[in-house]
Amino acid sequence: MADASTGRPDLSRRRARRDEEAAIFEAGLAAGLGDARDLPLDTHMHTVRSPDAAQDALLDAYCALSLERGIAELAITDHVDFDPAAPAYAYSTFGERERDVREAAERWAPRGLAVRFGVEVTYERAYEDDIRAWLRAHRHDFVIGSVHSGPASLYEPERVGAFVAGKSLREATAPYFVEVTAAAQSGLFDSIGHLDVVKRWLVPHVMPAALAAQPELYDPALRAMVETGTALEVNASGLRQLPRETYPTAAIVARYLAMGGQAVTIGSDVHQPSWFAFGLGEAYRLARGAGVTSLAFRRGDGRVWVPISAAPDRA
Ligand SMILES: [Zn+2]
Ligand SMILES: [Zn+2]
Repeated sequence: MADASTGRPDLSRRRARRDEEAAIFEAGLAAGLGDARDLPLDTHMHTVRSPDAAQDALLDAYCALSLERGIAELAITDHVDFDPAAPAYAYSTFGERERDVREAAERWAPRGLAVRFGVEVTYERAYEDDIRAWLRAHRHDFVIGSVHSGPASLYEPERVGAFVAGKSLREATAPYFVEVTAAAQSGLFDSIGHLDVVKRWLVPHVMPAALAAQPELYDPALRAMVETGTALEVNASGLRQLPRETYPTAAIVARYLAMGGQAVTIGSDVHQPSWFAFGLGEAYRLARGAGVTSLAFRRGDGRVWVPISAAPDRA
């Protein structure tokens, strides 16, 4: 059982969640979600330089798979955290990450693959000044800002049940949405990663359908993204996780576009080669269905647009 007094991780609960997600992934493979090919871009990928990636999450493995599957361009976006208690705090250095990616880019460019040097920064308001200063001093091709559930988070499996009990959905999601809205308002990021990942943390206490029924809860974050020009990421990892749907869904993408948002990115959030491009084709299909015709990206300078309307869509 959870020990709420110590906040010690409830290992059996964590294991059960992991097992269920493994089963969702297997079912997704059987349904063809692993078959994505011939797509222009994956903007969200983790290698062994991220603490939560698998030991075989090697850049060359991803590059070989990309060539095989016709994924033309990759952004490697390993985690960087600013909270000293968070797992990706000082886990790898900027120099290590940059060298890995730039060298791989040189090795693979002659074979027609473009590899970009990105980062996924964990955003917290408390560290915004540090993040701003660090990003100024450390140039990347592409920068994702994401809100994650840290060790002290209300949304950790052993605490979330007690936290949401008796609360409205607005109250239950507020700590997350306030933070991710601030991330968008900061203007520091090319895109916001997995905009509604909170729905993963809330399962099984609150199911994703509850969020889908109250899309207005997303509006402050979406508005901030429109105002600052920050891109909305369609993150495919939710398809292999407890929500069984992308972060966010096509309905939220359409809502963002209707508000005047234009910049959308698509990423797999891969952490091991067996997850390569999982759900990526489905994410493209959903984005196109919502009205997206090109993806917002950056290759070190200003924003570029990568057309997706004409790309084949076989998965
Ligand atoms: Zn993330
Ligand atoms: Zn990620």
